[in-house]
Amino acid sequence: MTSSVGKGWTASLLYTIKDPKNLIISSEDAVVIHDKYPKAKHHYLVLPKADIPDIFHLNQSHLPLLEELFLLAQNVIEAKRCQLDDFKIGFHAQPSMQRLHLHVISKDFVSDCLKTKKHWASFNTKLFLYYQDAYALIKAGDRIQRLNKEIVQQLYDSPLECNQCKFVAKNIPDLKRHLLDHWTQKQ
Ligand code: AMP
Ligand code: ZN
Repeated sequence: MTSSVGKGWTASLLYTIKDPKNLIISSEDAVVIHDKYPKAKHHYLVLPKADIPDIFHLNQSHLPLLEELFLLAQNVIEAKRCQLDDFKIGFHAQPSMQRLHLHVISKDFVSDCLKTKKHWASFNTKLFLYYQDAYALIKAGDRIQRLNKEIVQQLYDSPLECNQCKFVAKNIPDLKRHLLDHWTQKQ
C-alpha cells in the first residue's frame, strides 16, 4: 500500500500526529492536535488517521468521517471550557500541509504567530471554507475545487476588515492592535 508520508515541511503534520503525546483527543478514526503556530488564543487541528491528502480528495464516502471530525472539533472546544460560538471551524481552501485537516480556531485572532495579510485572509475571507459548507457540497455529490490563482491573489489582497466590527485596518500591525483591544475589553 502506498502512503502519502512525504518529505519536507508540508509533511510535518504527519510526523506530529504519530507521537501520542501530541494528541489532545483521539478517536478510532481521527485525532486533535495543537496548531504549532496558533493564529489565535485557541487553535487546534483535527485530522483523520486515514491517508486522505486534502479537501480535494473528499467524496460522499467521506461524509461519516467529516461528521467525526466535526464532533472532535466540538469536543476539544468543550474540553477547553470554551463556547462553540467563539470559534470558526473549517478548512483552508488553499491548504499547504499534507493530510486533510480541519481548523478549529477562536475568533479573537490574538497571537504573535499572526503576522501577514495571508494569515488573516486564510481565515477571514472566502479562503476559509466553513465545515458546514464543505459538508453540504460533498453531500450534494460535488467535489471541492481549487480556486484559481487570480481569485486567490484577490482574496489575499482583500481589505483588512475586522471580524468583530466595521473597522478597516491600514496594515497588519494596525489590525493586531485593534484585535487586542477587542480581546482586552472582553476579559
Ligand atoms: P493549511 O495547510 O494552510 O490549512 O494550514 C496548516 C496549519 O498547520 C497551519 O495553521 C500551521 O500553523 C500548522 N502547522 C504547521 N506545521 C505544524 C506542525 N508540525 N504541527 C502542528 N501544526 C502545524
Ligand atoms: Zn473591530
